[in-house]
Amino acid sequence: MTTQKEKVIPEKYIPDVDSYIETIDGKDYLITNDAMYTFYRRTKGEFSPFFLGLRDEKKLLGCKCTKCGLVRVPPFLTHCPDCNFTPTEPVEVEQVGIMNSTPPITYFATSLFQHMAPYGRGRVIFKGTDTAMSVILYTTTGILVPGIIKKGTEVKLVFRDNRIGEMTDVFCVPTAELAKEQIEKKGLQESEINWESPVEPELPRASDADVAVYEGALAEMRSIISEMDANERARKDIAGWKRDIQVKTRGGQFAVIIDDGDIKLEERDLTSPDFIVVSEDPRTLLDGLAYRGAITDSVINKKLWISKNMEFNTIFKLDRMARSVARSKKA
Ligand SMILES: [Zn+2]
Repeated sequence: MTTQKEKVIPEKYIPDVDSYIETIDGKDYLITNDAMYTFYRRTKGEFSPFFLGLRDEKKLLGCKCTKCGLVRVPPFLTHCPDCNFTPTEPVEVEQVGIMNSTPPITYFATSLFQHMAPYGRGRVIFKGTDTAMSVILYTTTGILVPGIIKKGTEVKLVFRDNRIGEMTDVFCVPTAELAKEQIEKKGLQESEINWESPVEPELPRASDADVAVYEGALAEMRSIISEMDANERARKDIAGWKRDIQVKTRGGQFAVIIDDGDIKLEERDLTSPDFIVVSEDPRTLLDGLAYRGAITDSVINKKLWISKNMEFNTIFKLDRMARSVARSKKA
């Protein structure tokens, strides 16, 4: 949870006071960074009660036609077009619903939404309502992959701890992942959900051959990671990033430590890793690090599991490091 208020324009998008030379057709031109400020405020207008319901009361509001009784969520109409524009009245609706389609999953979002990825986006019909509401979807079982949430899956509305009165104040998770009290609770918050103990995929017992494969892959990964550590481009990919990662494979396990530009592989068990990677075949991870296919693809294709959804960003950084090393070799 952030204690400091976020800025409308994130710090990283604000350029330094600086100048540089650009050479065009052999002539040098001086360019300086400058700024132009434009901010605006936007009203939610007649939808204000709906968004205030989300922000202040953790309520989901719909509107009910006083003639035909149709309940629409969100309450995007004040008068029912089916009943000659009879006024509708606000009603509170239940916070459990059914997916009315299988949600696509976004892994690589635009910069605006990348901090939320991977997420699903789909439409839910909440109990007692007649229209579907578009929601963001997550799982508590680790990385969100296809198959966890489908058409017909029952989901629960969850409220973010920090809410400002936007649709992103809420998201849904499958009810199958929650306890009965959580499903029944109105206004369940994200901090009331256990995101920390997803069910790790079980690894089969290692044979001697598996251990040999692991030893071979480990030696290669060790050399690739030390190459990354010495590569300027790759170091930039993890600038300001700190993660202790426990990697588990069929033949053995090791740690990858990322620390603001530094990366190293250590053959030890971490007591409190930031997240866990399970790659049954260590060569899946090795191939990614060696730039023979993306690790992110292996995650999406369920060949490699990670314990925290948001750490897809770290996996993405590892792919970038692999690419940086490959590019340096070409140059
Ligand atoms: Zn009506």
